[in-house]
Amino acid sequence: MESINQNLKPLTVKINDIGNLEIGGCDSVALAEKYGTPLYVMDEDTIRGICRDYKQAFKNYSKVNMMYASKALCTMATAKLIASEGFGFDVVSAGEIYTVYKAGADMSKVLFNGNNKSYDELSLAIELGVGRISVDNFFELALLNEVAKAQNKTVDILLRITPGIECHTHEYIQTGHLDSKFGFDLTQIDEAVELIKNDYTNLRLHGLHAHIGSQIFETSIYGDEIEILVKEIARLGLNEINIGGGIGVKYTENDCPPSVYDVAEIIIKRLNECIEKYNIEPPALFIEPGRSIISTAGVTLYTVGSSKQVPNGRKYVAVDGGMSDNVRPSMYQAEYTAQVANKPDAKNFEKVTIAGRFCESGDILIKDVELPELEEGDILCVYNTGAYNYSMASNYNRVPKPAMVLVKNSHSCIIVTRETLDDLISHDRLN
Ligand SMILES: *Cc1c(COP(=O)(O)O)cnc(C)c1O
Repeated sequence: MESINQNLKPLTVKINDIGNLEIGGCDSVALAEKYGTPLYVMDEDTIRGICRDYKQAFKNYSKVNMMYASKALCTMATAKLIASEGFGFDVVSAGEIYTVYKAGADMSKVLFNGNNKSYDELSLAIELGVGRISVDNFFELALLNEVAKAQNKTVDILLRITPGIECHTHEYIQTGHLDSKFGFDLTQIDEAVELIKNDYTNLRLHGLHAHIGSQIFETSIYGDEIEILVKEIARLGLNEINIGGGIGVKYTENDCPPSVYDVAEIIIKRLNECIEKYNIEPPALFIEPGRSIISTAGVTLYTVGSSKQVPNGRKYVAVDGGMSDNVRPSMYQAEYTAQVANKPDAKNFEKVTIAGRFCESGDILIKDVELPELEEGDILCVYNTGAYNYSMASNYNRVPKPAMVLVKNSHSCIIVTRETLDDLISHDRLN
């Protein structure tokens, strides 16, 4: 069965009666007019739809727990929405912990993860009742035990391990290979377990955690990961595995991400085989998708400004955003698909390169794309910007971060306000 992460566009995108792109029942050109551009637009039906795909796909394994990886997009409104679908959260900083807490998330369903959590962050996590902490290294085992002792608490933990699985994705988003900055090597687990048993008595170990990478298209590696995790928990007498996230999405027509239903089938099948093979009780299974939950639901609207034709070269068309609201093309050579919101049906195609407005030659959003001839004032809709766009946004060139709106049933509401010039200087002090 197909799942929503296999779509290029949000579920509700269509061309309306006046020939404009519509999303969530809202005219995208009217949204751009009302809220300004650049504008992040999130479609509620698409977010809920993929959450339901995940729940449906894993319904045959009763001990499954869905966690959304907040780093893909962390705002109070989206956290509240995802929590209402029954998901917990994977968080990696005090800021993410605080955001989901303020959004009303059930903190017992939150896992705190990361390779260099500070004393203060660990302290906040324990105070706010975070359900699990995934301990990344020996240094952190000692630190967390100290924090837990100071609060007179026993903390429930997982050990983050490096399973030694290579996946074919960009090297910056590979995390499961052996030479990685994340997690314990498999050969170090026994020492960590001994330390917890003998010295770190304020820690209670439940299981193992791994995450093999991001934008993964190859489903079989999840089976390999399950095998390694189950083999280890069986040996250690533990009863939880967290397999991380990583399922890919469709940024361009050439991308063929797997269906969540197919991935779930592989995971559950292999898990059941391993339960039998290693003769253990079915462990609790935690899954932490980030990108595949939120990416497809988001689009960014930009206004077209200047353009230039390089003699015998490319035609560049500049928009009013770029690498500060979407750093992925300049950081990962990520590709995107766009449509002209105010004339999606126009046929006068030409090949252009969509440039950002920032002072870096690498600030190119889409290279060599066929689009209807663009004019100043046109609204460009870039698809699949829900994940790792706003969450990686910066104020480079002192440009305020865009607003974000949530759309559903012809209704739009602001969930992140546009930064103002005063916001930009609000932390500055004249000496
Ligand atoms: C980044 C990350 C995720 C989410 O990855 P996606 O590719 O966005 O699904 C899940 N778990 C951990 C530990 C991560 O670091």
